[in-house]
Amino acid sequence: MTNETLKPIIKELKAANEAFLQKSAKEGLAVVDKYPKRNLVILTCMDTRLVNFLEPALGLERGDAKIIKVAGNTVSDGFDSVLGSLLVAVYELKAHTVLVVGHEGCGMLATTGESLCAKMAEAGIDETAIKELRPYIETWADSIECVEDSTAQSVRKLKECPYLPAYVNVCGCVINPHTGAVSFLEDL
Ligand SMILES: [Zn+2]
Repeated sequence: MTNETLKPIIKELKAANEAFLQKSAKEGLAVVDKYPKRNLVILTCMDTRLVNFLEPALGLERGDAKIIKVAGNTVSDGFDSVLGSLLVAVYELKAHTVLVVGHEGCGMLATTGESLCAKMAEAGIDETAIKELRPYIETWADSIECVEDSTAQSVRKLKECPYLPAYVNVCGCVINPHTGAVSFLEDL
C-alpha cells in the first residue's frame, strides 16, 4: 500500500484520536489496571461485527478481561502467539478462566486453503511462496466447517493443553453477531 492510499484512513484515525483526547482531558479517564478484574481471558474471532459488541453482550467493561482475537478463534497444536498470549494471561496476569467465543456466520466457514491460495495467486503472490504455505493454510482453514464444532475443538485443545495449570477452567460459547445472543456449549 502506498502512502497516498494510506493517507485518508490515517487522517480519520488522527482526527478521531484528537477528539478523543480533548474529550478525555475534559471528562477524565478511569484508571484501569492491566490485571483482568474478572480473571478472565477470552479467545474470539477478529470479525468486525464483534467490535464493541461482544463486550457489552457479555457485560464486560474495560479492564475486566484479556481478549485475544484470531480468525476463527482457532487453537493450533503447536506453539503460536495464541498459546503465548494465553500463557501470559494466565501466568503473568492472573487469568484463571478461559472463554472461547465463536460466532455464527464466521467468515472462516467459507474460507478454505484453496480459496485463500487462489486469491493470493490472483494478487500476484509468488507461486513458490504459496506452495510452501499451502499445507499450513489448509490444515488451519479447512478444519473450520461448523462454528459449534470448531469452538468445541478449541475448548478441547485448551482443556488438554499440557502448559495450562489445573486451576484454569476452559469453556466455550457461540454468539450471534446480529442479536448478541450467546449460547454456552456446556450447561454450566
Ligand atoms: Zn469469525
